[in-house]
Amino acid sequence: MESSSIFWDSIFPALWLIISLLYTGRIDYVKGYKSLIIFIIPLITFFIRLTNDFHFLYYKSIELETIGGFTAMYLTKGPWYLVQMIYVLITLILCTFFYYQRYRHSIGNEKIQFSLLFYASVLPYLALILVFINWGGTGIDYTAIILPPCIFLINLALTKYNFLDIKNLAREKVFEDSSLGFILLNRTHRVVDFNDQSIQLFKLINVQLKETNLEKLLKDHLDILECIQNSSHEIVHRMIDGQDKYVSINVKEMKNNEEVIGQLVTLEDVTEKERLRYRLLEMANTDSLSSLNNRRKFRESAEEVIHRAKRYNQVVSLLMMDIDFFKRINDAYGHAAGDEVIKVFSDLLRQNFRTSDIIGRMGGEEFAVVLINCDKNLAFEKAEQFRINVESYPIIVDDQTIQVNVSIGVSELNDTTVTLDSLINQADHALYQAKEFGRNRTVVF
Ligand code: GH3
Ligand code: MG
Ligand code: MG
Repeated sequence: MESSSIFWDSIFPALWLIISLLYTGRIDYVKGYKSLIIFIIPLITFFIRLTNDFHFLYYKSIELETIGGFTAMYLTKGPWYLVQMIYVLITLILCTFFYYQRYRHSIGNEKIQFSLLFYASVLPYLALILVFINWGGTGIDYTAIILPPCIFLINLALTKYNFLDIKNLAREKVFEDSSLGFILLNRTHRVVDFNDQSIQLFKLINVQLKETNLEKLLKDHLDILECIQNSSHEIVHRMIDGQDKYVSINVKEMKNNEEVIGQLVTLEDVTEKERLRYRLLEMANTDSLSSLNNRRKFRESAEEVIHRAKRYNQVVSLLMMDIDFFKRINDAYGHAAGDEVIKVFSDLLRQNFRTSDIIGRMGGEEFAVVLINCDKNLAFEKAEQFRINVESYPIIVDDQTIQVNVSIGVSELNDTTVTLDSLINQADHALYQAKEFGRNRTVVF
């Protein structure tokens, strides 16, 4: 054999391994001096084969025998031959493993490419088996037989299916480097690929991405599971270590000619956005002085309650309140003291009514309360209790005790009060009467 063909023959498995590392994006494993490790055994093999006549470590004997006019070459393999064969076997197993991994984690054209490379990496085993079966035999170079179909498959992967296509590489780059988390699922909802960011984002809401079966992975997160199974969009909220975390989950079906072949799950950390949104919403809904619902929010919530009450035949009552002679409080103690009175009065409202009731500041020193599952008689009792509590509660501002009284009008949702406005009008009417009758009292419409 010519020395150049011995050289290529010896280092072929190392090159084969390097190619598989390159194609499967693992070339970083053998950067720099590490790549030399791969070549140590093949280079020793090359040297030993060149100098075999001196030590017979590769072939113990080479005999030419002519039997019946045919000349056959008998090769008896030496110890280093076995070393090289084991090395070939290990590189082959690694190649097959790398291609199989990529094959499993890819879809579409890329899946075909890696299946071709996988088959190309399986074929040389055949040569290896033949070599072993024919251990003391004629020494036919089986790799020469296997190589053409191998090269054909690789060529097919490279040309027909655009292997290492710039588009695919760019997509892969976006996939890996994005601040969004991406998880690719196949049609049976199994995880086939994901980027590092998706691990981090799932960790944020206490999901450990270490299971490919989605049902098992999300068994404690049924809301996420449902969102993915329905290919919908959801913002998932979790309280982690006393902090609110929000992750947006967006699921899109991946189609190939109308056939759904999988799903792409996109994860995004929207915690800051959501916090800001909630703060803006809160600011838009609450009255800054009293921290109660403002008029707009009160009306919105009250409309909902009335709608539900009509639907489920619930009784609902409304209290309209107005602090008595508030102008006098302002005049006597100053506007700031008046503000303080409004604050304390609002606290009293919160303490005296249930959290399920809707309390709002309607403007100035006017307040309203919607009482759910409460008829006008019970509403009257509750209003009176509150009125007495206000009357007996000394509001102290700047060491001065301010006596506050409130007048209350009560109305109840019935056939004549079908809308919120009619309910408010009736309560207002009753409140007007309470003022007329001398204030600090409750009147039912
Ligand atoms: P009554 O309801 O018993 O008939 O008498 P009143 O003095 O409370 O009557 P009115 O409703 O006319 O006056 C309310 C006053 O409340 C007028 C306004 O100056 C004052 N006011 C309204 N909003 C605020 C506020 O936010 N802070 C303070 N300090 N005063 C306010
Ligand atoms: Mg008023
Ligand atoms: Mg008043």
